[in-house]
Amino acid sequence: MEIRTRFAPSPTGFLHVGGARTALYNYLFARRHNGKFILRIEDTDVERSTKESENQLIDALTWMGLEWDEGPQVGGDYGPYRQSERNDIYLSKAKELIEKGSAYEAYIYPEELEQIKEKLLSEGKPPHYDYETISGYDTPERRKEYTGKGNKPVIFFKMPRKDYSINDLIKGPVTFKEGAIGDFILIRSNGQPTYNYAVVIDDMQMKITHVIRGDDHLSNTLRQIAVYEAFEANVPEFAHVSMILGPDGKKLSKRHGATSAEEFRSRGYLPETLLNYLALLGWSNPDGKEIMSVNEMIESFGLDRVNSSPAIFDETKLKWMNGNYIRNANMERIFNLSVPFITEEKLLTQEQCQTSKKWLYEAIELVRTSVEELKDIPKELSVFIKDYEIEYDSEFMEYFTAQGVKETIKEAYTLIQNDDSWESETILENLKNAMKNAKPQKKSFYLALRKALTNQFHGPDLVKTIHLIGRARVIERLEKVVNL
Ligand code: GLU
Repeated sequence: MEIRTRFAPSPTGFLHVGGARTALYNYLFARRHNGKFILRIEDTDVERSTKESENQLIDALTWMGLEWDEGPQVGGDYGPYRQSERNDIYLSKAKELIEKGSAYEAYIYPEELEQIKEKLLSEGKPPHYDYETISGYDTPERRKEYTGKGNKPVIFFKMPRKDYSINDLIKGPVTFKEGAIGDFILIRSNGQPTYNYAVVIDDMQMKITHVIRGDDHLSNTLRQIAVYEAFEANVPEFAHVSMILGPDGKKLSKRHGATSAEEFRSRGYLPETLLNYLALLGWSNPDGKEIMSVNEMIESFGLDRVNSSPAIFDETKLKWMNGNYIRNANMERIFNLSVPFITEEKLLTQEQCQTSKKWLYEAIELVRTSVEELKDIPKELSVFIKDYEIEYDSEFMEYFTAQGVKETIKEAYTLIQNDDSWESETILENLKNAMKNAKPQKKSFYLALRKALTNQFHGPDLVKTIHLIGRARVIERLEKVVNL
């Protein structure tokens, strides 16, 4: 049997990291079993769904490289893959259920449904609809009056009163006790299907074998399996992935910072970082491996190693991982990805980035060792590009006045002035020679020198930094300090 999974986002916002992880797990599971991964847009909530959000979701998934085999843009044998284009299917399948005796039409107004609920609650009963009550509203007069106003009958599902169980591939056995819910709506009076109904029709028709999704949908599963049974259809396997929490143990939300794939992208995360991090957010590789390519994940992914307890989103780890990926990625790619951040910050123009490409390439190669997000590249580069006001603070003065430091800096200044070749080798040579006479403590000398040139005590390789700042700027900065 071919394994078929799907990611079924509602286009009502950005791609949240929880959704991105769900998409990834579905993708990995399908690829691991040489199956198919399907994208379906669940836009039945006409008020909240937007085309803009659908496009953003598609962009974000494409950026992450989670290619779908069937769905919008690529088509497939079981389309359409947008729920808003499937209304006729939902209606005709609901009619099938009516014929089977598993559903019925109701000529009832929303206010009346509300009243029934309130009455049941006030009598201390569970607020469940049933055929006996609802069919009381189905009289010939009522039909005439109701449809005369242009309303369509609501289609209700006749919920069998019995226990239901599933064996969730992550949560284990789950039983829904009889009486948990009553009859429920399949098609509303405006002709729109409800989520719990549409999802079953789609999963059935798209031949989905494994439903992998967030465990906020676990309670919906009861309604869904009842509908499968009514059709005498195969029930897919379910795998409910636990929630993602913030470091404070509360559900991950805006309050915790960036939470969407789009935001991470715009801060200069590489897609492979996000995939790697999200894979580990609830799953672990049997070999304990932490840094993994998508292909490595595909080879080892299994639902048996997905954790049933909530995962904590740790942005520090994600950042660290991104730094790691930035350092090891192809340099031409990092150069190209950095340019928009540099031009956005107006550090250099697009043209300057191209005309000084050789220099800029080297500078980015140097500073990429100390950034965790590409958006920080301009800040790190500014020391090479902007005229800098150096602060000779007390920490600097401590190193600068240490034994032999000032003399050595003076000496280096003289040697650098005479260095016409300006290569990393000659710079290093000159610094070493400068130390020969005054013999300063190396650490104090280098700290003072770095601060005098970059206004910072720490940073990437100092010789390369000096080389990239350029001779004229180095001389200018050293001149100020030797005259202190
Ligand atoms: N459209 C639902 C959501 O975005 C997903 C439903 C499902 O995976 O069954 O939460």
